[in-house]
Amino acid sequence: MPRQTKTPCGDGRTVQYNTIKVRLYPTEAQAALFENTFGCCRYIWNRMLADQQRFYIETGAHFIPTPAKYKKEAPFLKDVDNQALIQEHNKLSQAFRVFFKNPSSFGYPNFKKKKTDKDSYTACNHVFESGPTIYTTKDGVRMTKAGVVRARFSRRPQGWWKLKRITVEKNRSGKYYCYILYECRVKAPEPVVPAARTTIGLKYSMAHFYVADSGAMADPPHWLRQSQEKLSKMQQRLHRMQPGSKNYQEAVQKYRELHEHIANQRRDFIHKESRRIANAWDAVCMRADALAEMSRKLPVGNVLDSGYGMFRECLRYKLERQGKRLISISRYEPTTRTCSVCGSVRDQIPLRVKAWTCPQCGAVHHKEINAAKNIKAQGLAQYFGEQNLDMSA
Ligand SMILES: [Zn+2]
Repeated sequence: MPRQTKTPCGDGRTVQYNTIKVRLYPTEAQAALFENTFGCCRYIWNRMLADQQRFYIETGAHFIPTPAKYKKEAPFLKDVDNQALIQEHNKLSQAFRVFFKNPSSFGYPNFKKKKTDKDSYTACNHVFESGPTIYTTKDGVRMTKAGVVRARFSRRPQGWWKLKRITVEKNRSGKYYCYILYECRVKAPEPVVPAARTTIGLKYSMAHFYVADSGAMADPPHWLRQSQEKLSKMQQRLHRMQPGSKNYQEAVQKYRELHEHIANQRRDFIHKESRRIANAWDAVCMRADALAEMSRKLPVGNVLDSGYGMFRECLRYKLERQGKRLISISRYEPTTRTCSVCGSVRDQIPLRVKAWTCPQCGAVHHKEINAAKNIKAQGLAQYFGEQNLDMSA
């Protein structure tokens, strides 16, 4: 899954970050080392957080001790990659930074629990004269302490990409994955100026994932629905079973695997759909909907509800890499209630209403297509306003 944030370098090049996800097949000893590292990371996080809290109460100052301080009293920390512990310190410092900056959106850092927190750790690559500490081989990833861990690559890095860091993770069904982050310096793309006919407006839709201003809809593939139905049936079966029994354990594992399968299907759909749109259009207009808030109002179990945020993020970087723009308009714009023909704004339209007639000009609207048209018009106006360009040009 490629991810990107861009930083200009000043020489017409920008730094892109690409992530490659690989499945890991550790030996028993390597898996034990991973488990150990996950545990040590949780331990060091909790110790640093506890000491930060104590120190804050005693002196009123914010201070996080470094992992080195704990190694004497907890010698088992020496068994794992020191880089992983340093990263926990960085992550905790970052968690406090965002918390201090914006306490209402980012909560106070929490203690980590084995039961609820993800099994994962991150380690940075260091390049010494003797070579890098982390690198990929034909069929594996070489890591500090673990050595070469067998891996399956679905895609390969380019030779000139710089390996920055890895995150090793165990998912809920017990599979290991490694996210390898690369830094790539690329030529900055020429900015593309959108026109009305090369711009698409997308409206989030509960039933269709999105609806475009042209009337096109991305109906979620039927197999996604089939998997979803299967998941609901499995869930019902689980409720009827005796927790703790062997059958129950097996069913839980199957349930988790199906869950994972659906997540993969969804990710695949989102990547393909965003790729298609980013290649076909010069700009995409979307509303900055508060998706977390919206999904609370949705019926439980809508497989695509959580995918829209990812879809937007995929679109953003896929467009940016081509010098194109994702134009976000305010979520407070009344795009649904505004007539895209005459511009008059009417009262709230009930959720179940699919079509309406404008009381001012008599235009008949499909509710979602009309909203997508408004999102596009609003987005373009915003874009040309920002750029100080004449829209008719
Ligand atoms: Zn009208």
